[in-house]
Amino acid sequence: MTVIDCHGHYTTAPKPLDEYRKRQIAALKDPAQAPARDMLKFSDEEMRASVASQLKFQRERGTDITIFSPRAAGMSHHIGTAATSLDWSQVCNDLIHRVCTLYPDNFIGVCQLPQSPGVRPDNCIGELERCVKELGFVGCNLNPDPSGGYWTDPPLTDRWWYPLYEKLVELDVPAMVHVSASANPNFHHTGAHYINGDTTAFMQFLTSDLFKDFPTLRMIIPHGGGAAPYHWGRYRGLAQDMKRPPLDELLLHNVYFDTCVYHKLGIELLLKIVPIDNILFASEMVGAVRGIDPTTSHYYDDTKRYIDAADWLSDQDRQKIFQGNSRKVYRLDRVAARHPAVAN
Ligand SMILES: [Zn+2]
Repeated sequence: MTVIDCHGHYTTAPKPLDEYRKRQIAALKDPAQAPARDMLKFSDEEMRASVASQLKFQRERGTDITIFSPRAAGMSHHIGTAATSLDWSQVCNDLIHRVCTLYPDNFIGVCQLPQSPGVRPDNCIGELERCVKELGFVGCNLNPDPSGGYWTDPPLTDRWWYPLYEKLVELDVPAMVHVSASANPNFHHTGAHYINGDTTAFMQFLTSDLFKDFPTLRMIIPHGGGAAPYHWGRYRGLAQDMKRPPLDELLLHNVYFDTCVYHKLGIELLLKIVPIDNILFASEMVGAVRGIDPTTSHYYDDTKRYIDAADWLSDQDRQKIFQGNSRKVYRLDRVAARHPAVAN
């Protein structure tokens, strides 16, 4: 069975990409520092070397295809202007496209959007459309808080976001709700800000009629859905108190969770609480947590092991988690010509 990991980032990009970003940021104060795109003319060999470790992990862990996006913390939409974010998004998305073209059976692209705090998300439509229509990408990462931990923009359920959702629906691609680096020293980025972002998005969806307005819009909440599965009773109860419909009716035709939870009991909870149809296999490899768990001697982010060990799952459940649900949510059959492994 082809195993699809729906959440991987290009954390291993060639070093000059960091240099480009540093110069781009320096140019905000001193335009003479502005980098040239020529800095990023990597050979195929350099590109292949940059994903060698990612491919090795895929082989070792028994996963096949990664739905691959630019480094999440690197998006840092809070830096500079919308023009800064657009240039940076184009550069990062083009490199994802290079990887997906070199290894079409291993990587499928998802894009970063040129969001910027206080700027209407309509400004993201052009880059989203370019990535889906020209580069063959299957979705985007949507930052619910472009300010990086200060939450200065309206909630995801506000009409502020609707033009972007209209385009997602028209293109028939999902968004993964994914914050970026934290600019607020109260929130560690991967330890607090990411999980806050996931939980916040879930509660925003619960209190709104967003999916009545967009019945075919699909959102993936990563990192196992933040705190939502663990506190499922609280969310069911809150929905009930607010006279909202039951969660499955309200959200589960549109909202999905990935399996980026880095211990067995956590994944078991996710698998038992959330319907199997709403769970997509993922590891967020390489990079959110890099070490080896001394209690198991395996990498924390080797999430396939935890699902393999869940012996109550049926073959059909596994098929859905490891590939069927991702195929459905990302409409992967559409890119089977470009990525033949999807057809397996
Ligand atoms: Zn991520």
